[in-house]
Amino acid sequence: MILIVDDQIENIYSLEKLLKAKGFGVDSALSGEEALKKVLKNDYALVILDVQMPGIDGFEVAETLSGYSKTKEVPIIFLSAVNTDKKFIAKGYASGGIDYITKPVDPDILMLKVKTFYRLYEQTLALNETQKVLESEIETRKKAQQELKDKVEHLHTTLESLPQIAFTADARGRITFVNKRWYKFSRCPETFPEVHPDDTCIKKVWQHCIETSQPLELEVRIKALKSGLFCFHLLRIIPVRDKTGIRSWVGTFTDIHEQKEEERKKDEFLSIASHELKTPLTSIKAYIQLLERMPDVQKESKFATYISRAQTQVNKLDSLIADLLDISKIENGKLKVNKKPFDMERLIESAMETIYYTHSHVQVKIERKGETITQEVNGDAFRIEQVLINFLTNAIKYSPDSDRVVIHTAADKDQLYIAVQDFGIGIPEHKKSNIFTKFYRVEESSVKFQGLGIGLYICAEIIKQHNGTYGIESSSNQGTTFYFTIPFN
Ligand code: ADP
Repeated sequence: MILIVDDQIENIYSLEKLLKAKGFGVDSALSGEEALKKVLKNDYALVILDVQMPGIDGFEVAETLSGYSKTKEVPIIFLSAVNTDKKFIAKGYASGGIDYITKPVDPDILMLKVKTFYRLYEQTLALNETQKVLESEIETRKKAQQELKDKVEHLHTTLESLPQIAFTADARGRITFVNKRWYKFSRCPETFPEVHPDDTCIKKVWQHCIETSQPLELEVRIKALKSGLFCFHLLRIIPVRDKTGIRSWVGTFTDIHEQKEEERKKDEFLSIASHELKTPLTSIKAYIQLLERMPDVQKESKFATYISRAQTQVNKLDSLIADLLDISKIENGKLKVNKKPFDMERLIESAMETIYYTHSHVQVKIERKGETITQEVNGDAFRIEQVLINFLTNAIKYSPDSDRVVIHTAADKDQLYIAVQDFGIGIPEHKKSNIFTKFYRVEESSVKFQGLGIGLYICAEIIKQHNGTYGIESSSNQGTTFYFTIPFN
């Protein structure tokens, strides 16, 4: 809208007509006072101002407008009778567009100026709007940056307070922060501590984790700068993700040296103890056999019964010691399998016979289901039988109210599958994942049934050595089904 200010109503009328004809919205005021009231109330794109008016004249109106923040940008065209007024025009009116036209008004010139100022006003408005948007954008960004900075500082303070060595890295794996503990193991914040030559190289494993977006967990020995000693640490590096993917990584080295030492001592003790136990036990076994064969021991006599019971107990002790020896072999990486082609069907029969023999005191029927395995297997028959016997022994032991165990077999051209199904107490779903761990026993059953929790751990190790797989079948039925698969070759 354009405001025309003139004390002569006929002047207003002619200008109004002209501007309206060109499509402009027009308002008018007959004095300076009225004009000032109107500009404060309404928004105008341009003011056409008569200079000579009674009361407040045109210059005073212009000066006042330049003082209001609301109107200081509004362009003004003065209408004056004399040319010399020009020198006063710029005075006191610094901002906004300004021009003048002498009376009588030339309509073409007036229209040219009006159009120019109108466009200028629109552009100023648009510019102001853009500036506002930009300012708010800058403000939002500043706020977000500050929040991010606060978060990073918070994270760094947290990492600093940890008892572990802690660090952060960017998405590409370049270290961006390390806490003070880091410097006990590395002089430089960009390089990882020195790793024992026999341990896995951190950089290599981590590079793989970055490529596959996987967290890292690794036990490594790192060198303490002061003592020069390598100490066991558990290194964990986890990705920090946002909507776009991995943003950064947070890592810690936790000192597990003492724990590892304890474990080593325990394994060493186990190894020595089981070796030491083995020698006298072998002698006891030999003497019992001699006693059994003595001609004056009558078959159905008390002596014979006692000797047979002693033999059963010694056999139990023997298998226990054998398991403990296996554990120490696994720990030392010495559980080796001796692969040779063997007949799986014969192995299954032999395992069943052993079970019937060792479980003569319990009622149990082992059923066979599935395919007959005709293809020879290249593996360690003794160790595979050990696995099957272990599965069968557990199936009977943990099924006090059932006398039925089923062996399922299947094969394809590459591998065979054997499962042992029982109808016993079962294993709670959330405990299944731990069942093959060393010394793990399900609490609910550990009081009622004797055991050490090492049988399945050894089985898992044997199957791994055969490049096979193992596990528990998921079924909603009562009981449990343990299985393993191994390749024929
Ligand atoms: P152990 O039987 O000497 O404890 P294992 O390593 O053979 O050791 O088994 C580990 C644990 O798994 C057992 O303590 C028992 O809680 C559970 N378990 C193994 N087999 C079965 C089964 N057939 N049914 C139910 N629980 C089982």
